[in-house]
Amino acid sequence: MYKTTSNAHTLTGDGMAIAYRRGVPLEDMEFFQFHPTGLAGLGILLSEAARGEGAILRNSDGERFMERYAPTLKDLAPRDVVARAMANEVREGRGSGPNKDYVLLDLTHLEPAHIDAKLPDITEFARTYLGIEPYTEPVPVFPTAHYAMGGIPTTVETEVLADNERVLPGMYAAGEVACVSVHGANRLGTNSLLDINVFGRRAGIAAAAFAAKAPWVELPESPEAETVAMLEGMRDRQDGERVADIRRALQETMDANAQVFRSEATLKQALADIAGLRERYGRASVQDKGKRFNTDLLEGIELGFLLDLAEAIVTGALERKESRGGHFREDYQNRDDVNYMRHTMAYRTESSEGSAGVRLDFKPVVITRYQPMERKF
Ligand SMILES: Cc1cc2nc3c(=O)[nH]c(=O)nc-3n(C[C@H](O)[C@H](O)[C@H](O)COP(=O)(O)OP(=O)(O)OC[C@H]3O[C@@H](n4cnc5c(N)ncnc54)[C@H](O)[C@@H]3O)c2cc1C
Repeated sequence: MYKTTSNAHTLTGDGMAIAYRRGVPLEDMEFFQFHPTGLAGLGILLSEAARGEGAILRNSDGERFMERYAPTLKDLAPRDVVARAMANEVREGRGSGPNKDYVLLDLTHLEPAHIDAKLPDITEFARTYLGIEPYTEPVPVFPTAHYAMGGIPTTVETEVLADNERVLPGMYAAGEVACVSVHGANRLGTNSLLDINVFGRRAGIAAAAFAAKAPWVELPESPEAETVAMLEGMRDRQDGERVADIRRALQETMDANAQVFRSEATLKQALADIAGLRERYGRASVQDKGKRFNTDLLEGIELGFLLDLAEAIVTGALERKESRGGHFREDYQNRDDVNYMRHTMAYRTESSEGSAGVRLDFKPVVITRYQPMERKF
């Protein structure tokens, strides 16, 4: 739903959106991680390895600006800190390029042989997608939407929660789609391995054990009917608005209004835009009317999911009047443990036309061995 994303995150989004439409709440959706170094305008990820090997972020004056924002860790400060610093350089007019809308990742002081040995992907991406030679030219970069800390709420045993406490028997979620909340508001790099290896394993074991003892239940008549109606509703509609136009408008408002920096005014603008886009989506149609491998239809259906998820993200971000981890409110710049040491739980409400907005609730944070404290370097 953001214009520049570091991968096809609609895949993870599909699972969240389908569960959400089935009545499962979504937890902490406002905590979205922006990775600092996406290729400018595209979002394709240049991993931290580049800065780990010594690459330096510079603004249009050639200044190593991270020395100002994080004097100790500099370019290796946490993702949220670097992403905000980059976005701030651009909005204060020190961005590079014709539109001054990106900063530069400078590897030119590194030996070409070292770059080739340690950073082969990064150099290839820069050459292939931007026509930049990283041995001799700095690479244009800007923060890119990267990872959802929020998602389908689960217990530590990966059982899906229908509300703050009630487990949905037989439903398990693990991976980026889930919110066990081990990452809090700010996942550290590489910790998806935890999502996948620890909780994926738990989910597989638990699902197999459940299946072995669960009784057979009668299926309702035509259990597929709802999905068929969703697909055919969009495929059969004639002469509607183009899906791509609505998706682009969604990306533009999310990029402008629910990005690294957020405020009440921008988030309200995003919500109003999403409501307008939802109305347009009700008239959208696809050009390909075929029944086989119809990617046009897939994108049309996924756009509906993205609208739901964008609305949940923006509603949570509007309600969370503080800054924490990946969520930064310009109008509430400090962490507020008194009022917001709690999870948001977004419930989708329905009307006859589909979504009727989000009902937001809260869930207490469970604190065990470690007491929360201020992040300091
Ligand atoms: C460029 C990039 C670099 C990253 N680097 C790192 C890193 O170095 N270390 C790290 O820890 N994390 C990293 N991450 C994050 C990490 O890769 C992801 O969080 C992780 O891969 C998510 O895994 P997953 O299995 O939960 O979801 P996915 O990998 O998104 O898998 C979901 C699967 O579900 C399938 N699917 C979707 N909808 C349906 C449906 N309706 N029916 C059936 N199947 C469906 C999809 O096709 C897909 O195969 C990176 C992410 C990106 C984008």
